[in-house]
Amino acid sequence: MTQTEYKIYIDSIIERIEKARIKVSEHHIVKIVAVSKYVDADAVRALYEIGQRAFGENKVQDLKSKTEALEALPLEWHFIGNLQKNKINQLIDLDPFMMQSLHSLELAEALNKRLEAKGKSMECLLQINSAKEVTKSGVMPEEAVDLYAQIAQTCPRIDLRGVMSIGAHTDDKKAIRSSFETTRDIFDHLPDATICSMGMSGDFELAIACGSTMVRLGSILFPAR
Ligand SMILES: *Cc1c(COP(=O)(O)O)cnc(C)c1O
Repeated sequence: MTQTEYKIYIDSIIERIEKARIKVSEHHIVKIVAVSKYVDADAVRALYEIGQRAFGENKVQDLKSKTEALEALPLEWHFIGNLQKNKINQLIDLDPFMMQSLHSLELAEALNKRLEAKGKSMECLLQINSAKEVTKSGVMPEEAVDLYAQIAQTCPRIDLRGVMSIGAHTDDKKAIRSSFETTRDIFDHLPDATICSMGMSGDFELAIACGSTMVRLGSILFPAR
């Protein structure tokens, strides 16, 4: 695929997002985070040249190497992976735009403490395990609203902006929809939350229909070229 063909292809994905968005409301805004975990820095650059600014990585090490390789570009990096305690300092030092995968009070407190020591703060989303899958991290839906308030109260260095969730891992559309609705319902009960991050390559239109304001697209934005 040439860069021109790639742009036409990306425009077709944006068109699909637009269609889904307009169905919700003309005023409904959906932001795209391009998940670059499967590709190298050159692929990130190619998508940047088409106009994409927000990118996501799920490993601190990969975030570090891409942040460094693409330092000269005005990119916005989102951390979306499972953060291990021993990687907290490294993540903070990379100054990500946002950390989307805060999955427990314990992690929030550890992160807050490190941020405090470094005199920094970080925008975060609380990750919800909306389908209650044992293989996924995230807080249980019924605990989410209370936990969100608790983190907001006890972790002043963490700026909570909303929620993130991965749709139910199944082919059953009803179950996927239900997991998105669960997340959106939590989002609607949070004071001052602005971001409801849900929807990936296989389910972003459904996620938008359920009220997603941010989709995290990986494989669909980076086809084999
Ligand atoms: C990998 C990943 C994505 C993107 O997945 P695709 O199905 O390739 O679009 C989105 N969110 C998280 C948390 C991920 O780990």
